Amino acid sequence: MTSWKENVREVVPYTPGEQPKTKVIKLNTNENPYPPSPLVGKAISDVKLDALRKYPDPNCSNLISAIADYHGVDKENVFVGVGSDDVLAMSFLTFFNSNKPVFFPDITYSFYDVWADLFRIPYEKKSLDETFKIKPEDYDEPCGGIVIPNPNAPTGIAEPVSFFENIVKKHPECIVIIDEAYVDFGSMSCIDLVRKYDNLLVVRTFSKSRAMAGNRIGYAIGDKELIKYLSDCKFSFNSYTMDTITLAAGVASIQDDSYFKEKLEAVINTREWTKKQLSTLGFTYPDSKSNFIFAKHESVEASYIFEELKKAGIYVRYFSKPERISNYLRISIGTDEEMQVFIDELSKIIKGV
Ligand code: PMP
Repeated sequence: MTSWKENVREVVPYTPGEQPKTKVIKLNTNENPYPPSPLVGKAISDVKLDALRKYPDPNCSNLISAIADYHGVDKENVFVGVGSDDVLAMSFLTFFNSNKPVFFPDITYSFYDVWADLFRIPYEKKSLDETFKIKPEDYDEPCGGIVIPNPNAPTGIAEPVSFFENIVKKHPECIVIIDEAYVDFGSMSCIDLVRKYDNLLVVRTFSKSRAMAGNRIGYAIGDKELIKYLSDCKFSFNSYTMDTITLAAGVASIQDDSYFKEKLEAVINTREWTKKQLSTLGFTYPDSKSNFIFAKHESVEASYIFEELKKAGIYVRYFSKPERISNYLRISIGTDEEMQVFIDELSKIIKGV
């Protein structure tokens, strides 16, 4: 007798960072410590209750126009989804349909192999060098696709646009996805390359730099043909992915560019201050261009620091695997006050050992 279990699509799911219910200093999921623009609040309260009776705009026209204008591309170059996780998952499904493996770094966003497994996409992880940098020559062979975050996560290391252009240029046979979840915190975007290369897809999110993780807005910018293929897959899966309130909130966020830039600068300044404090306490870290720092102490184990910080009500992210990063902590950047409390507690922990 065969069992139905033989036909289940079994997967090992992605594990998101903890969302504690109690009040803690939360430096574990790379959220922005500041609220979104006040214009976002107004846009949300302006949505009429009666508007929720109807389905949202399946083409997300206003949000797509706002994003297109912001980046100086055409509407047909933009695809939107429920967070960049949705956009990335849809991109894997749409473009990674080859028997050749998709390449991505061995230390990177841990959702990539989950989607590849889910969609039965073959993949090969390319190891970072001993300083956690991507080795571009590893990506030279023909493949089924490439996905790389810039800056990479959880290392925070950014590469210049020319680094990615070289990769994209060498791979007309596949789609190269650059995941720019953290690009606004101080590195250069590959969006301009989209005009030149029809095999490049740049994926972005409102979750980090726009402080809207709770809304779930992600988007992709690419050649019109790529966006059409993505849309066709999306409309074959779920036409109404984004809700009416979120669509309005997204447009409002884009309209308040001065608030956006002011808060970005605040996070960047706090990051640079935190780096100096960490160095003084005996930590080393790759030079992060994101809203987190990936740090290791010269003598105290990361798992111990992680547990002690938690007891003090401070949550950071600890990955026990792979082995190479098991002595690192990923610390998201909070407000100045939060980071001062964090550094004070960290100092007590280190000195108490
Ligand atoms: N890419 C990277 C590299 C990330 O770290 C994250 C956040 N977990 C995402 C994409 C997804 O973010 P979101 O779905 O909130 O847009």
